[in-house]
Amino acid sequence: MTAKSSGLSPAAATAALATLAFDADGLVPAIAQQHDTGEVLMMAWMNRDAVRETITSGRVCYWSRSRGSLWRKGESSGQVQTLVDFRIDCDGDTILLKVDQQGVACHTGRRNCFFTSVRDAGPEVVDPVLVSPEQLYGKPSQ
Ligand SMILES: [Zn+2]
Repeated sequence: MTAKSSGLSPAAATAALATLAFDADGLVPAIAQQHDTGEVLMMAWMNRDAVRETITSGRVCYWSRSRGSLWRKGESSGQVQTLVDFRIDCDGDTILLKVDQQGVACHTGRRNCFFTSVRDAGPEVVDPVLVSPEQLYGKPSQ
């Protein structure tokens, strides 16, 4: 199965926007999942512009709450997410992005963001750093 590299029509994006239930801040949470392995990669937020761009371009774009701007995944790290399937949950308030993740999804250099496991002895990091943040961003991560 190969990942699609081009997006859907603007009309498809408009119809998706009409189906989604945005919160008071105009955002919807989006979970990214590797399309072929089922691995859950990360969660981030999308506003209407991010939804439209993701669907029409076929490249995942989020809304960065900290930067207050569109966040084209991989634009600084090169770790892009190609959209395979854009799913909307039963009540329209959560997005599931089936993607083809290039490299690592997490800014810490791990494949996914969910590398901390709750154990009796306390939270434990259970997944390795695969790419150093310095290599991803050319500087130490904050
Ligand atoms: Zn992360």
